[in-house]
Amino acid sequence: MGVRRRFVALQTNGSRIRYFFTTHESHKVKKMKALVKSKRSCGLWLEEVPEPQIGINDVKVRVLLTGICGTDLHIYEWDEWAQSTIKVPLVIGHEFVGEIVTVGSNVADFRVGELVSGEGHVVCGRCRNCLAGRRHLCAHTQGVGVNRPGAFAEFIVLPMSNIWKHSEEIKPDIAAIFDPFGNAVHTALSFPVLGEDVLVTGAGPIGIMAAAVAKHAGARYVVITDVNPYRLELAAKVGVTMAINPRKTSLQEVQQKLGMREGFDVGLEMSGNASAFRDMLANMSHGGKIALLGIPAGEMSIDWHQVIFNMLTIKGIYGREMYETWYKMTVMLESGLNIAPVITHHFSWREHEQAFAVMRSGNSGKVILDWQDPGPHDPH
Ligand code: NAD
Ligand code: ZN
Repeated sequence: MGVRRRFVALQTNGSRIRYFFTTHESHKVKKMKALVKSKRSCGLWLEEVPEPQIGINDVKVRVLLTGICGTDLHIYEWDEWAQSTIKVPLVIGHEFVGEIVTVGSNVADFRVGELVSGEGHVVCGRCRNCLAGRRHLCAHTQGVGVNRPGAFAEFIVLPMSNIWKHSEEIKPDIAAIFDPFGNAVHTALSFPVLGEDVLVTGAGPIGIMAAAVAKHAGARYVVITDVNPYRLELAAKVGVTMAINPRKTSLQEVQQKLGMREGFDVGLEMSGNASAFRDMLANMSHGGKIALLGIPAGEMSIDWHQVIFNMLTIKGIYGREMYETWYKMTVMLESGLNIAPVITHHFSWREHEQAFAVMRSGNSGKVILDWQDPGPHDPH
């Protein structure tokens, strides 16, 4: 039989991905279970794929728990964004906690057995912002589970610069959602909230966590809006001042009830919904500050007069600050912030279809997939 060259694994080296080939006969790469976007259509498929190989600057992690993100739903559903972004086949997922199983020969700061998560943005390290230490503003960011292999698998390999070692006080469930918690913290702390009145539009998991952070950071009132009653109930559990359905109660009424006169000082847009954003703009105080995390489906028109004449500041937020946000997440949890109510469901990787169905229903907070029981492997 002739020697056939065959793709077996991806190896990462810093931010570069190298493709490795081996001969058919010599190939002994171990296989692992993973949720793979393997076809250009709706769905995700549980498959056996080669375990990722590590480079000298990488860390290999055994995945314990993963969170399902809205991004994973977009990829599952194969919407327009996913079709234009995802190159199949791809192991998806980026919210995880796991334990280190191997470190590359250049890696001195991490040890086997440590509980870690991964920063979901792999940056280039060479652009102007990276060199200046503003890595969250990297011009060449790659998304884990979007542009490179992800965490819905038994193992993931990441550059050591993307690994965050958890403090011993952080529970694994919470550690699994550090990535979206980081979105919430980055957004909620974008502007000072001490003594301020904060409006959060969208009580998805990130909106609810952001509301809890704003309260923890000293906001006076934290009002959160959503059109989904399940999510409003969930939001009420983290101690918001009011959780309201804008279809039933207007923000003007809310302001009256709370005795507010001049509008919200800080707005955190976490729905991606145009009418929620417009409502927010109409209820901001003059000089108010808005952090925009929610991703609109397309272009979104607004009344710019409100921005100009009320001198509003609008700041877009993408990802987390590396690693100031991670530090703040940790110390806030250590000092009593409780985001546990946002986790509503746990499933084994075997039940991934149910887990995605619950997420798609909207009647959930964060949904966790457990990878700790790898199950039997198909013989190859
Ligand atoms: P999610 O979809 O679970 O939550 C959005 C919520 O907005 C839902 O509960 C929905 O019912 C609610 N909503 C819809 N219309 C509304 C309206 N008119 N008024 C108030 N609420 C309304 O999403 P999530 O995981 O919590 O993430 C929040 C947003 O942030 C999403 O848009 C997501 O795509 C985006 N996101 C951005 C980044 C980033 O880096 N910029 C990262 C992660 C997520
Ligand atoms: Zn960069």
